[in-house]
Amino acid sequence: MRARDISRFLKDMGWRSSPVAQPGAVRSPVAETVVDDGPLEVLARSAADCTLCRLSEKRHKVVFGEGDAHAAVMFIGEGPGAQEDRTGRPFVGQAGQLLERMLFAIGLRRDQVYITNIVKCRPPGNRDPKEDEVAPCAPYLDQQIELIAPTVLVALGKPASHRLTGTTKPIGALRGRWASYKGTPLMPLFHPAYLLRTPSAKREAWEDLKKIKQRLDSA
Ligand code: URA
Repeated sequence: MRARDISRFLKDMGWRSSPVAQPGAVRSPVAETVVDDGPLEVLARSAADCTLCRLSEKRHKVVFGEGDAHAAVMFIGEGPGAQEDRTGRPFVGQAGQLLERMLFAIGLRRDQVYITNIVKCRPPGNRDPKEDEVAPCAPYLDQQIELIAPTVLVALGKPASHRLTGTTKPIGALRGRWASYKGTPLMPLFHPAYLLRTPSAKREAWEDLKKIKQRLDSA
């Protein structure tokens, strides 16, 4: 789905940017109460039954993303793993626990940031997502970025860093250097799963995290 199509979809679902209408407010078919869903939730619902690529065939749950819809920083990984596929939540395994410790180190809690991936469905065997899986998923990510409008984007690991920087340089050359994605400052970082396997790289990750904190503090 293209970003334009998603915008049209959001409008069809009742989301209006006008301050008068409630964004995405829908009447629940179960309880007679109005569920005040924001545009991100409306977009998540549109992704929940996405079949744009082969990853939809074997997934259990679409892992859309979660966190503060107005977060100043958005973390973007490569794709859901087994636990994420089962729960529908990003970064809930061991890598997620390390990510939470990394956040804590710069004074942030998980619920203060937004966490997602470049593909919303699990690549089998946790392989890297392929280009024909990343490309159809990109409008979801682009729309998430547009709606959240973070100060800083953080790409976790090689596939996300390659996708968002538009280069194929080694992650060792990309990490710690500011880039930008569609006008938003972007910091590539080692993936927490890599840091679990390579604890000696945590020192560099810490240097990179400090740059993110500095940028957020001065925004
Ligand atoms: N690794 C990722 O890149 N994303 C997740 O959601 C979990 C692990």
